[in-house]
Amino acid sequence: MSKPYTFIDLFNLLPKSNCRKCNAITCMAFSLLIFKGEKRLNECPYLDKDIIANLEGKIDTSKTFDQNLSKIVEQFKAEISSMDLQSSAERLGGEFSDNRLTIKVLGKDFSIDAQGNISTDLHMHPWVLYPILSYFINCKGAPVLENWVPFRELKNGKKWNPLFEQRCVKPLKNIADAYTDIFEDMIHIFSGKQVDSHYKADISLVLYPLPRVPVLISYWKPEEGLESDLNFFFDSNAEENLNIESIYALCSGLVMMFEKIAQRHSQS
Ligand code: SF4
Repeated sequence: MSKPYTFIDLFNLLPKSNCRKCNAITCMAFSLLIFKGEKRLNECPYLDKDIIANLEGKIDTSKTFDQNLSKIVEQFKAEISSMDLQSSAERLGGEFSDNRLTIKVLGKDFSIDAQGNISTDLHMHPWVLYPILSYFINCKGAPVLENWVPFRELKNGKKWNPLFEQRCVKPLKNIADAYTDIFEDMIHIFSGKQVDSHYKADISLVLYPLPRVPVLISYWKPEEGLESDLNFFFDSNAEENLNIESIYALCSGLVMMFEKIAQRHSQS
């Protein structure tokens, strides 16, 4: 079975400059709108004619975004079902027992069996499920060095950085500004750990969305004459264990989960 062509595949062919000449807010939005049938490929002036000709017919606009995403998830599950789960446990930083491979996702068990069946207590956004399954397949088992680098300094981070800033950094900073105490709550909710101040940040915490892909989040509160600031840092080996689009999807999914928590927090 050939792999379904996805919005991520299309996104990878775009310049990621977010120039808006296609009237979409970002290249990612353009990619999603193509799959919704609301844009045409030739509306991006930077897509080569040969690429457009090659793509015609590969994009299934009859499905919703969620259906497209579930198609990718099904494909991942099929790939996982052909893996030797027992021998993959160490590579993934997980454990194998009762014919299931279990890893910790934000401190909660996430298990998969040889048929690709998933069980977890974590209520996750599909954007988080996609990178988790990608991790099962692509993680190389590189050790976590705790040598923290910003997203843009990851090997392929520069190209994705504008989108990462827009979809991950800014919205999380907005949450931190409005509900600063929620960072302390996140430590408990998602089994993160408080670490020594990173670059003199007021709050520095490490979350483990995947065992070999920790994320350090630092927040500097506003001071007189100075705006607040927030940044994500990744282990320098992160891309050995998860590709850059999955790191992006993982963080944007996390931010969406945090937004939900913040909304609930504001209503309680
Ligand atoms: S898809 Fe093309 S036109 Fe649209 S924002 Fe991206 S680069 Fe610009």
